[in-house]
Amino acid sequence: MTDIRNQLFINGTWTEAQSSLRSALFNPATGEQITTVPMGGREDAQSAIEAAYDAFPAWSQTAAEERSVYLRRIYDLIVANADHLAEIMTLEQGKPVKEAKGEVLWGADFFLWYSEEAKRINGEIIPSSRTTQRILVQRYPIGVVAAITPWNFPSSMITRKLAPALAAGCTVVVKPAPETPLSAIALFDIFAQAGLPQGVANLVIGNAQEIGQEFLDNEKVRKISFTGSTAVGKYLLEQSAKQVKKVSLELGGHAPFIVFADADLDAAAEGLIYNKFQNNGQTCICANRIFVHESIQAEFMDKFIAKLKDITIGNGMRDVNVGPLIHERALAKVEDQVQDALDKGAKLISGGVRLTEGEYATGCYYAPTVLTGVTRDMHIFQEETFGPVAPFITFSNEEEVIRMANDTPYGLASYFYTRDLATTMRVADKLEYGMIGINESALGYVQAPFGGVKQSGTGREGGQHGVDDFLEYKYLNINF
Ligand code: NAP
Repeated sequence: MTDIRNQLFINGTWTEAQSSLRSALFNPATGEQITTVPMGGREDAQSAIEAAYDAFPAWSQTAAEERSVYLRRIYDLIVANADHLAEIMTLEQGKPVKEAKGEVLWGADFFLWYSEEAKRINGEIIPSSRTTQRILVQRYPIGVVAAITPWNFPSSMITRKLAPALAAGCTVVVKPAPETPLSAIALFDIFAQAGLPQGVANLVIGNAQEIGQEFLDNEKVRKISFTGSTAVGKYLLEQSAKQVKKVSLELGGHAPFIVFADADLDAAAEGLIYNKFQNNGQTCICANRIFVHESIQAEFMDKFIAKLKDITIGNGMRDVNVGPLIHERALAKVEDQVQDALDKGAKLISGGVRLTEGEYATGCYYAPTVLTGVTRDMHIFQEETFGPVAPFITFSNEEEVIRMANDTPYGLASYFYTRDLATTMRVADKLEYGMIGINESALGYVQAPFGGVKQSGTGREGGQHGVDDFLEYKYLNINF
């Protein structure tokens, strides 16, 4: 893939970083070096912010219809280039190319949805206290947005921020994850083809600490939108207090997946396979603790294991279900969690090993793993896993399982399967999560507000709520 451009995109121009340092990029499926990318730093971030700041007055005053047309054009271009974008993603991130294409198209849908929503950023007229008064509420774009994105969804985590930000009339600077810069570059190539005015969207690849610090210190940045780990999110939130910048955070999760005794077990097993092994378990909304009622544990496990046997693992460029993990650190974390669980008495039902033979020899592969007898003292019960491990815990009643499900500082996604309406309503009320899948294990829909509570973040992405995060209110009290 020598045709991949690897530069920064600032003020409508592809450009080298100030520093001549470059960082090597590796294919997680093979361990081979793909290319090198520039190491942008503080000065590059500053130039990008400057460009976004200069572009803001014109872009924010563009007619909504006009912004809508740009967004729609970007959607069309992403769809037309979906195969190419998917291959780039698989190369650097590892997920199977079919899954990568699904992400690219889902990511494109944010541009389609917000191309429509751009035209519906309505204000309000509020009944006034006097007959000679009108109270008007108008909505304004916040200003320059700095977006920081992770490697697990290299395309859609950018589009889920940019589409609503641009629809609102904000201008943006994006810093993608160092593991997946090429997907970001490929998207910016599309923004350029779409003719987005210069400075409206800028891309800075490189040193996270330096770029992040410039985002935090530069008064021209009015909003930080971050998707990534809770630790980094907390740091950004704390540092943003100095200038009272607006902050949206989509952070880690630790999803419970509950199977009640009356559930449709085939649907639950199918849902769990999809949810747990999507992106090889490297998803913030992946099931991390699987609670199964004791009366159906054996039957459910048989169904789950039968489906697990059909999973194929390998280089995502081939027709496989699951690719490699992103890098050695991710693999080591999975190994540590599994070993800790086994040391503390969990039972290994399947997997539990690194795959090292044949085509797996140079990549980061770990066998899909099932553990039973998982208890609260194990790291896997306490921490996000981010890998292909399914830890099972049995429960005997509703109260007990809700207590265990909520026993975490995270509150992103949760799931439960039941056929009973009263159970559905009671459990949905009591789960402390921003999103709940009920007899359903997929949650990412463009029209729905994606996001978490507790230490999983603040703000929502997607749907009409997603654009709110990029808008301010201005109230006019008119006396006449
Ligand atoms: P991460 O280590 O927090 O990194 C995320 C991004 O932040 C990367 O671009 C990273 O760059 C950057 N970063 C790190 N330190 C920074 C700093 N001081 N200033 C500015 N930027 C900084 O997370 P990750 O490992 O890439 O992603 C996995 C995590 O994301 C998981 O916890 C997952 O649950 C979460 N996630 C959440 C959602 C959601 O919607 N809630 C979606 C996807 C992922 P460097 O790598 O160069 O440091």
